[in-house]
Amino acid sequence: MLNIVLFGPPGSGKGTQSEKIIEKYGLVHISTGDLLREEVAAKTDLGMQAKEIMDKGELVSDSIVIGMIRNKLEEHRDASGFIFDGFPRTVEQARELRKALTDYDQSVSLMISLEVPREELVKRLLKRGEETGRSDDNLETIGNRIDVYNRQTIPVTYYYDKMHKHASVDGTGSIDAIFDRITEVISKVQI
Ligand code: ADP
Repeated sequence: MLNIVLFGPPGSGKGTQSEKIIEKYGLVHISTGDLLREEVAAKTDLGMQAKEIMDKGELVSDSIVIGMIRNKLEEHRDASGFIFDGFPRTVEQARELRKALTDYDQSVSLMISLEVPREELVKRLLKRGEETGRSDDNLETIGNRIDVYNRQTIPVTYYYDKMHKHASVDGTGSIDAIFDRITEVISKVQI
């Protein structure tokens, strides 16, 4: 099985590249951001709590997102692999993902981090905010999301570094050029 963690700051293109990876490798896509937005849209209790946190650009609690991930793994027991998009975002989430995958005799094959300069991220997110009206794509929240990423999420790269499972990819340039770089690092993974 191929289990990919697609990693990178807000606006680094994880969603866009995930779609292309799924198409090529036939993986099941799990985006914690999308799952949370579904809860918000359905106005569930969880969604109401999450919306407040997401609109500030803070992280939803580890226990909530880990629960969502466990449900998805159980739902797709027959999958030929997963792509985790926007998860894990804390070292605790990374540890819990490892435990959850172990229950299915699985592990993360590779963590790919998309590298994009801050100015470019802000530009992309402001554009997306204008186009989609996503409520956390405004200047103030964007700044906080990038700060939260640098503070709480970057340490996840060290976790995978230690296991020699981390590859950095230049996330600038055309969508296809970035995807070519991604397929190149995936081709080196032994499965
Ligand atoms: P982006 O990476 O562009 O900020 P996401 O859709 O991945 O967008 O996440 C949007 C928001 O959802 C985050 O700012 C955070 O509040 C919440 N969120 C998503 N995934 C997680 C996670 N794994 N842990 C905690 N909070 C999360």
